[in-house]
Amino acid sequence: MIFLKTDEEIEIQRESSLLVGKTLAEVARRIRPGIKTIELDRVAEEYIRDHHAEPGFKGYGGFPATLCISVNDQVVHGIPGNNELRDGDIVSVDCGVLMNGFYGDSAYTFEIGEVAADVRDLVSATKQSLAKGIEVAIDGMRIGDIGFAIQSFIDPYGYGIVRELVGHGVGRKLHEKPEVPNYGRRGSGIKLLTGMVIAIEPMINMGVRNVKQEQDGWTIKTADGKPSAHFEHTVAVRNGRADVLSSFEEIENVLQSLKS
Ligand code: MG
Ligand code: MG
Repeated sequence: MIFLKTDEEIEIQRESSLLVGKTLAEVARRIRPGIKTIELDRVAEEYIRDHHAEPGFKGYGGFPATLCISVNDQVVHGIPGNNELRDGDIVSVDCGVLMNGFYGDSAYTFEIGEVAADVRDLVSATKQSLAKGIEVAIDGMRIGDIGFAIQSFIDPYGYGIVRELVGHGVGRKLHEKPEVPNYGRRGSGIKLLTGMVIAIEPMINMGVRNVKQEQDGWTIKTADGKPSAHFEHTVAVRNGRADVLSSFEEIENVLQSLKS
């Protein structure tokens, strides 16, 4: 069952999604070599609760934290801990919030200090592939068109597109129908309709697409140990254009101000 949202519900969900972006901007202010990932998690949890919302991931299926923090060859679902970030790392930070009954879900991959050029290229291509997917998330297109747009952008790089994990509908539940794969055939799958809200989230590996799960029962890593990047937006399907409910603007304003 796919839940179509009313305009009113989408506006509520926009608030939840924007709070995710602001929370990730708080992470952006602090993320640097030497910081422990658990410290970032505390900042995010406090910020979300201060805004009368709840961390969307904490307790979800037993997940123990507010953020999924996945470093280098960790793809997604990394658990924050006492590990310190290092110069040259890339770090996917995924955040969900529940506010006024609706979830927002968004992720951003941060570069820590000086990152190798080929790894920066991976991060950049992954972010661009998200934009390609969003471009076709419009009424009348199909789920496969999103996957096709992402895949046809990524394939020429020779990167691996993770298949075991996919995007998803999002609303009153964190994970709703439909599944939104990051690969696919043009014109395949269910038709996209105004009022669908989906999380589009390419997970792109520098090497092979295969992944494995860590002993902790959560962390997903690349099978070959090469790095992986991940970006995610919560998007409402509309007529003629996609409506991106989450935002990277605050994150990138912070990153820009720290650079100058
Ligand atoms: Mg997410
Ligand atoms: Mg998601």
